Amino acid sequence: MIINHGVRGSTPTCNINTSFYGGATPCVEIVTNEAQIILDCGTGFSKVNFSNDLPSIILLSHFHHDHIQGLPFNQTLSKNLNKIFISTALFNKDKLKKTLITYFSPPFFPINFFNEFSNINFIDFKDLKKSFTNFNLESFKLNHPGEAFGYSLIINNKKFCYLLDNEFYDDQLSSLKDFCEGSNSIIWDGMYTEQELKSKKGWGHSSIEQGLKFAEETNLNNLIISHHSPNRTDQQLNDLSKKYLNYEIEFASENKDLKIWTD
Ligand SMILES: [Zn+2]
Ligand SMILES: [Zn+2]
Repeated sequence: MIINHGVRGSTPTCNINTSFYGGATPCVEIVTNEAQIILDCGTGFSKVNFSNDLPSIILLSHFHHDHIQGLPFNQTLSKNLNKIFISTALFNKDKLKKTLITYFSPPFFPINFFNEFSNINFIDFKDLKKSFTNFNLESFKLNHPGEAFGYSLIINNKKFCYLLDNEFYDDQLSSLKDFCEGSNSIIWDGMYTEQELKSKKGWGHSSIEQGLKFAEETNLNNLIISHHSPNRTDQQLNDLSKKYLNYEIEFASENKDLKIWTD
C-alpha cells in the first residue's frame, strides 16, 4: 500500500476549491511486510495510523515547515514508541534531533513535544539502510534552498521515487535519470506551471512542464505531479489533467493508493 496523505505545497490549503485533490501538506505512507514507512510529516501526517505490529520509519526530506508541521498532530503516534524510527539523509541523528526539538519547543511550539516522546529512535540514515533488509532505500540530493533529499525505495522488484522539493535544472537530467531508472512511480515536484516558474526561480521547485519533459526524455512515464501550489484549484488541476491526457502522468490526490505493490 502506498498512500498520498498530503499533496499540497508550502501551506495547508483546505477549502471548497481544493477538496477533491486535497489541501494537506506532504506526507506519503508506504506499508510493506517489514515496515511502515512515512515520507515527510506535513499536515497529511495526521491521517497515518501507526502500526501496532510493524516498526515505523519516518523519513524526512528536509525541514521546511510544510514537511514537518504535522509531526505533533498524529493521535496514534504514542503507540509503541520504541518501534518508531526517525531519520533523514540531510542531517546525522544528533542534528536531526536537535533541529526537531528546537522546532517543537517554545517559543515556536507550546510545549517541548519530544519530552513526551523521548523513546522515539533517532537514527542515522546509513544505519537505517542497514537495519531493514527486505527493501532497498537510496537517497538523492535535490536542488533546494537549504538542501533536501529525495528517496527511492525498491520492494519486490518494484521501485518508487519521492522527489519533493526540487528545482529541476538541465544539468540534473542525467543523474536524476540514473536515480529514477526502472521506477514504477515517481512523485515529482510540480508546484508551478512554466509561466509561474519564471518569477519563482530560486524558490526550489519545478514545473509541471519540466516533469513532462523529464518523462519524455527519460522514458520514465509514471510521474505523479504533487506539491501543488496553494493557489491551484481542483478545477485548474482537472483542466491540466485533460490537457495532458495523452501523457502518462497524473496529478496527485489525497487518500489514493498508488497500487504499485498490490498486484
Ligand atoms: Zn515543500
Ligand atoms: Zn522545501
